[in-house]
Amino acid sequence: MYAVHPPWFYRALSPKYLLCRVPVQDKVAYLTFDDGPVPEATPAVLKILKDHGVKATFFCVGENVHKHRDIFDLITADGHAAGNHSYNHLNGWKVSPGAYYNNVMKCREQFESRLFRPPHGRFSPAQYIVLRNDFRFVLWSVLTMDYHHAVSPGQCLQNATSGLEPGCVIVFHDSIKAREKMLFALPRFIEYAIEQGYRFEVLNEKL
Ligand SMILES: [Zn+2]
Repeated sequence: MYAVHPPWFYRALSPKYLLCRVPVQDKVAYLTFDDGPVPEATPAVLKILKDHGVKATFFCVGENVHKHRDIFDLITADGHAAGNHSYNHLNGWKVSPGAYYNNVMKCREQFESRLFRPPHGRFSPAQYIVLRNDFRFVLWSVLTMDYHHAVSPGQCLQNATSGLEPGCVIVFHDSIKAREKMLFALPRFIEYAIEQGYRFEVLNEKL
């Protein structure tokens, strides 16, 4: 099976440097979207968010920002936050700390953000140490698994709603692969959360 929650050792790292869930008691939820911006998914997400009056955080791949600067500008113009997701969506377990650091900094040349989400949720202790002074790592409290071939749109929605709690950080993907499931689950999840009394806020490095 698959894991919708991060491994325990990530949650054991200092929240000063790495966040899985925001420590709040209020009914506040944090929507995040990884891997964009792409024309096939990101504008549709922005429309859903705007229709519901909701703000979110987009962990963008630097190369996609370079290719689709116009869409990236729409994200920030709508009042959403942007975070670094490396320049080429690197798997941290497959590259050296130096190559990883350089790739994250190359993404930073595209846009400024102090938030970093490691692609695939994978990084080594050495990569964590070289980046943690420049960035707040943001993992998640719940993955919707919208990218997973074996997860249905309904299961994706169920993953999101079952993870709804104060300070939850929920991962969707504005990618071609996840598009269909994400576009099914996202509006339904937002409506469910609002019915339950939640509001949505953007992430920042001080939380
Ligand atoms: Zn990713």
